[in-house]
Amino acid sequence: MSFVRTVLGDVSPAVLGPTDYHEHLFQVSPLLAGDELDDEAASATEAGLLFGAGITAMVEATPVGLGRDPAAVARVSAATGLHVVATTGAHREAHYRPEHPLLRASEPVLAARFRADLVDGCPARDIGSTPGGTAIAPDSDALGGTAVALDPDGRPVRAGLLKAGIGYWSISPFERRVLGAVSAAHRSTGAPVMVHLEHGSAAHEVLDLLGADGVEPGRVVLAHADRNPDPGLHVELAQRGAYLGYDGMARHRERPDSALIELIAAVCGEGMAGHLLLGGDVARRSRYVGYGGMPGLAYLPERFLPRLRARLGPEVVRQIMVDAPARVLAWCGTH
Ligand SMILES: [Zn+2]
Repeated sequence: MSFVRTVLGDVSPAVLGPTDYHEHLFQVSPLLAGDELDDEAASATEAGLLFGAGITAMVEATPVGLGRDPAAVARVSAATGLHVVATTGAHREAHYRPEHPLLRASEPVLAARFRADLVDGCPARDIGSTPGGTAIAPDSDALGGTAVALDPDGRPVRAGLLKAGIGYWSISPFERRVLGAVSAAHRSTGAPVMVHLEHGSAAHEVLDLLGADGVEPGRVVLAHADRNPDPGLHVELAQRGAYLGYDGMARHRERPDSALIELIAAVCGEGMAGHLLLGGDVARRSRYVGYGGMPGLAYLPERFLPRLRARLGPEVVRQIMVDAPARVLAWCGTH
């Protein structure tokens, strides 16, 4: 029986409904100084606005060490009714302070942490996100080591997705260790994998690396693929089996929503609607209505999706928003 692992437990993929593949409820990164997401009430307000606009599931895409708060995410999920899939793994190296303890961890230590987040529960206190971080020995298996985060019913809050990240056409030694650790955790659990591609670069190369490590392309989400809006490339990647995460709406300093709509139309025109995922990846408090900013997470369902439905019809949009995420977020293992 396949299942999706949410912060409130395992559910049938069929119950997710319209799913935002990439948002953040809690995130603290030196790359986003002043734009921290660290206020539970404000993040809960934002999640409620997303749910109220018709999105019934989302991925909380913040990996280890960047201000994750799994217990708070579980409380927000319980309070709003939004299904939330939490993330383990690591972001690209630039998101971590040089002294961050995660950067010193070996590949086996990272793999053990990621697997434990998926199977046993995430640490209640995130690693290295407090000043000074949590001291660890580079080869100890003590990465984390604090009590497990609990949901409102006292059950461990577990991650449902593995994440890695790379730079623009570059993979640092840390990022390579993370890719290896993510692959190992995938092989032992069957959890799905998401990779942050900076500006959409190195997509084929990442699929090659993961494939050599035992991760099939059909278990991989290529996040931010639309930052390189090349429909021919995207059809190739989808033909390999990969899922393409598009999250560039409401960013018209880079390109208008119309360009993203035409990219989606072109890829769907080649029969690949079932390999597309949409999310906002809004990620900054200054863009969250709940924190006093705009346009907010509900921009996707309220502003973008109506235009997409008008262009492609409701059936294609349902394939993208409901069917594709239900397939890729389902675990292929039994853990
Ligand atoms: Zn993100």
